[in-house]
Amino acid sequence: MPMLDPQEMNTEALNNSTLVVLGYGSQGRAHALNLRDSGLEVIVGARPDGPSATQASVDGFEVRAPDDAARAADLLALLVPDMEQRDVYENVVRPNLPNGATLLFAHGFSVRYGQVQPRDDLNVVMVAPKGPGSLVRRQFEAGEGVPCLVAVHQDASGDGFDLSCSYAHGLGATRAGVLHTTFDEETETDLFGEQAVLCGGVTELATACWETLVEAGYSPEVAYFECLHELKLIVDLLYEGGLERMHRYVSDTAKYGDVTRGPRVIDDHVRANLRRILEEVRNGEFGDEWIREHRCGGERFRALVQNDLDHPIERTGAALRARMSFLPQESKSCP
Ligand code: NAD
Ligand code: MG
Repeated sequence: MPMLDPQEMNTEALNNSTLVVLGYGSQGRAHALNLRDSGLEVIVGARPDGPSATQASVDGFEVRAPDDAARAADLLALLVPDMEQRDVYENVVRPNLPNGATLLFAHGFSVRYGQVQPRDDLNVVMVAPKGPGSLVRRQFEAGEGVPCLVAVHQDASGDGFDLSCSYAHGLGATRAGVLHTTFDEETETDLFGEQAVLCGGVTELATACWETLVEAGYSPEVAYFECLHELKLIVDLLYEGGLERMHRYVSDTAKYGDVTRGPRVIDDHVRANLRRILEEVRNGEFGDEWIREHRCGGERFRALVQNDLDHPIERTGAALRARMSFLPQESKSCP
């Protein structure tokens, strides 16, 4: 069982260290705020005059230019987008991070696919929250936490594991669960999960089901409720109590449909596709493709995303959500 016992973790290895959070976006802001509230010393590295630098100052942090911040770090959390990490490492981190410091990632992509090849003298660790930054902060403020994966890629000082456990503790993760993993396992499972189920799989299934109903002549609005809106109710039950809890709350008719039709939706052909997608993650094909796409300017990527946003389910959904007074304001104005 890779779950660590908080009682047996060293959660104090970062006391008296200067932590630099480089990149003040989704993860960066949440990490910086949580670590500071946990009593640790945090400096934010951000490009001067950028919106992130302004936000970090408003939040009360000492903000320095990235190279200046890197020079002050005992531990530097590299929280710029994955596709920027190679350049930021080469231009900012490698020449400035002090000898023997710790370089921390929130996702293993750059190391797993060789984008960042860290100096030998550094500890290279990962603390990867299993949730977006907004949730990492919200849960912390509520006295709870988001589970994190911790891993050590390079242990120059010999206490890389303790340092990553202390960082995870500062984020609030020991209240939710800290799992010990490797950079390879985190990267490969994370990419596979977001492709096959969390982002790619679930949206493709919902829109394909919506299309099936609409093409057969059913109302787009009724189809929207059935195929997308109600997904949340089911996901909440799964999140709270797994398959058992969902089975307890749905009708026997729904259950019978589930156990007899579900395996026909996810048939051997789909399972073969899943294995192929995992293989592309493991053999580096996906990583290479995405890095190439990014280097070529990302035109095809943006067109594909736009294609998703132009799907007619989006118009149906926007009109229905505008009437849902319980939704947060911002989600209604989204196209
Ligand atoms: P983000 O896009 O929200 O924020 C990135 C920040 O980096 C921004 O403040 C941006 O201004 C800054 N930045 C960009 N280029 C820079 C440069 N050249 N120099 C200095 N600053 C620069 O990114 P994010 O989603 O927080 O991702 C950061 C890391 O966290 C990634 O490794 C990502 O895989 C990981 N992660 C993200 C999530 C998530 O849900 N967002 C979850 C787990 C892990
Ligand atoms: Mg999709």
